[in-house]
Amino acid sequence: MNITGAVLEEVGAGRPFAASRPISIAELELDEPGPGELLVRIEAAGVCHSDLSVVDGSRIRPVPMLLGHEAAGIVVRLGAGSGGSGKSKLAIGDRVVMTFLPRCGACAGCATGGRLPCEVGSAANTAGTLVGGARRLSRDGVPVSHHLGVSAFATHAVVNRTSVVRVDSDVPPDVAAVLGCAVLTGGGAVLNAGHPALGETVMVVGLGGVGMAALLTAIAAGHPVVGVDAVPEKLERALALGASEVFTPEELAESGVTASVVVEAAGNPRAFETAVSGTSVGGTTVTVGLPSPTAMASISPLGLVAEARTIVGSYLGSAVPQRDIPRYVNLWRAGRLPVEELISARISLDGINQAMDDLADGLAIRQIIEF
Ligand SMILES: [Zn+2]
Ligand SMILES: [Zn+2]
Repeated sequence: MNITGAVLEEVGAGRPFAASRPISIAELELDEPGPGELLVRIEAAGVCHSDLSVVDGSRIRPVPMLLGHEAAGIVVRLGAGSGGSGKSKLAIGDRVVMTFLPRCGACAGCATGGRLPCEVGSAANTAGTLVGGARRLSRDGVPVSHHLGVSAFATHAVVNRTSVVRVDSDVPPDVAAVLGCAVLTGGGAVLNAGHPALGETVMVVGLGGVGMAALLTAIAAGHPVVGVDAVPEKLERALALGASEVFTPEELAESGVTASVVVEAAGNPRAFETAVSGTSVGGTTVTVGLPSPTAMASISPLGLVAEARTIVGSYLGSAVPQRDIPRYVNLWRAGRLPVEELISARISLDGINQAMDDLADGLAIRQIIEF
């Protein structure tokens, strides 16, 4: 079938992207879903830092690539054997959350309960294919790569069965979309990797979509939260969402305030250093941001030893989407995880280049593309 989608044509284009337009809105051909795959009509998609990282070249992926990995939509067609059975059964008309972290359930990574990503899914993501190696996207006969097995900045997507989690229809599409990346990653950094004890303070360094999701999740779990960011508007937003205290990194260093569990969600080495020095004696620093591969940080080994501190790397929130998304849905439904608050703007697909600028400039938490 023919679809309309946002295709990244080149990596590393100059700023502003609104002028250089590395992403074009194109007509593409989308093949029928193969065995174990499904066709989804996209309802909403979030613009995430991991999309920007591909656009600006800090994560190298094959182009042309149809971007977008945080999304929700409705199942339109099921490929052979993709309906499944039991609790994970899928039917036409179901709403699904896309996850950028397909899990085959059979490899060594999948056996770690979320600590390591699926080896099969990661290999497919790096290659720009679906799990199983297929490319279902093309333009004028030339293959177009999938982004993280999803490619949701489009009217429709074909994805592998392992790239979706079904949600009930009372979860609106924008909320469902944000659950699939920001909440899975930020919430997971707190719950799966940080494991704060009852009532312990959680600090979040870097208040973008993932950081704000970590903040909301920690509050939902009953923890006082300290927010840290260099952008004053984000600190105000964190206070409005229930943070008990907020600081710029400089203010934090002067204040001496620390927390038992600190989540670094900024993806830069200075933020990581701030997170480590903001961790209490005996506490845990969780780093979930994705800095450039050449970034280096400086911390005191003696501080780790003498103060019995722990640093945990949490890739993608140590998440198991099939296990974790229903937990977040339950918290959202109980009114304890107001995921809607992460949405800072609603845009149409042709605003995507400007959206990348706004994200890069720190002006956005989550911009949602509506279809
Ligand atoms: Zn993302
Ligand atoms: Zn696996």
